[in-house]
Amino acid sequence: MNNQFESHLIYGGEYSPRGKWDYSAEWKTKWDKIISDYANFKDSDKQRLDKMDWWRFLVNNGIPEKDLQIRDLLDSTDFGESIRHVSAYAALAEYAESSEKNEMDYKIKGGNSMFTKALVERVGNENILLKHKVKEVSQADGKVDVLCENGTVFSGDALICTAPVYSLLKINWKPGLPEEKLAALNQLQYARISKHAVLFSDRFWQDESFDMVTDIYGHYFYHATKNQPGKKGALISYTIGDKADVIGNQNDDFKTEMITQTLRPAFGDIKDKIITHLNYNWGTDEYTKGGYALYGTGQWFGIMPLLKKKFMSTYFAGEHLADWQGFMEGAIVTGEEAADEIAG
Ligand SMILES: Cc1cc2nc3c(=O)[nH]c(=O)nc-3n(C[C@H](O)[C@H](O)[C@H](O)COP(=O)(O)OP(=O)(O)OC[C@H]3O[C@@H](n4cnc5c(N)ncnc54)[C@H](O)[C@@H]3O)c2cc1C
Repeated sequence: MNNQFESHLIYGGEYSPRGKWDYSAEWKTKWDKIISDYANFKDSDKQRLDKMDWWRFLVNNGIPEKDLQIRDLLDSTDFGESIRHVSAYAALAEYAESSEKNEMDYKIKGGNSMFTKALVERVGNENILLKHKVKEVSQADGKVDVLCENGTVFSGDALICTAPVYSLLKINWKPGLPEEKLAALNQLQYARISKHAVLFSDRFWQDESFDMVTDIYGHYFYHATKNQPGKKGALISYTIGDKADVIGNQNDDFKTEMITQTLRPAFGDIKDKIITHLNYNWGTDEYTKGGYALYGTGQWFGIMPLLKKKFMSTYFAGEHLADWQGFMEGAIVTGEEAADEIAG
């Protein structure tokens, strides 16, 4: 299903509907040149770019202050923290190598669980073991033993480990992970992201393709029930960094006020239209302690190769090691690559 949005804006207390705001003409010209120049970048240019953050890159390219603030609000939703913490290479590669809407053009009919269901059908339910939390990986003489908390042991010639960094570091590796891999794992942060889904009694935003960036707590909203039948509608407020932590920790009353206050400049008082809301803060997720991996200054080329490096009979894969990092497809590609490597 089409999942493209047209962005509205609340900035400095003022609301601008879709099509009524834009970056400055000066910056748009500059941006087009930045994107077209990227096509000629050599590896050395990319590595140099990785050594600075995205905020610095934009500032060095003369971005006007308001354009910079709006870019930070929008781009930070792609990375999950302020663009001051993001590798300029990671950012420019994402924008220059993708389509205008950042390749987020479609959603799965029936929800993402349909995708999981389809995978289960392909792989076979009997081959998927839940409630088998790995606690130890032992490797010797070209063999791997994986010990789970429930006492089950799996033995094989090779292992693909797709655990996110926080979980990977909790596993007891025997022998221990190499010093340089451990150092790289300890450097990689994950972004703090909170999603706050709000169900409203009607779609007062009157635009099926509604999304909106704001400079207030609610940060970024998108219409999650786009083109679905019914009078009611859901907006999801997507917050990052400190905002995600602040909102994630508060009670329902605070969250209701936060949503109402953020939307007020555009739609007046919508408090009575809220039917229910639900928050999930990935910063406190049991397995990841963050949404997706956050490659900071110097880290794309500095630590990713070490994170990807095979250790004895264990291969590593997952979103945090993907070229198309932060996306399901990227995660799957890393798994396929690891499997191909094992198959030779
Ligand atoms: C807020 C948010 C929005 C996103 N939006 C999009 C989007 O619009 N489009 C898109 O394509 N992607 C999106 N993503 C990214 C997508 O969810 C990830 O890229 C993908 O889930 C990564 O897959 P993975 O298998 O690498 O890691 P995960 O999905 O994190 O899977 C890792 C698995 O390892 C398990 N595990 C951990 N430790 C152990 C252990 N010790 N033993 C056994 N199992 C263990 C965990 O339970 C988990 O099931 C989003 C992510 C977030 C957080």
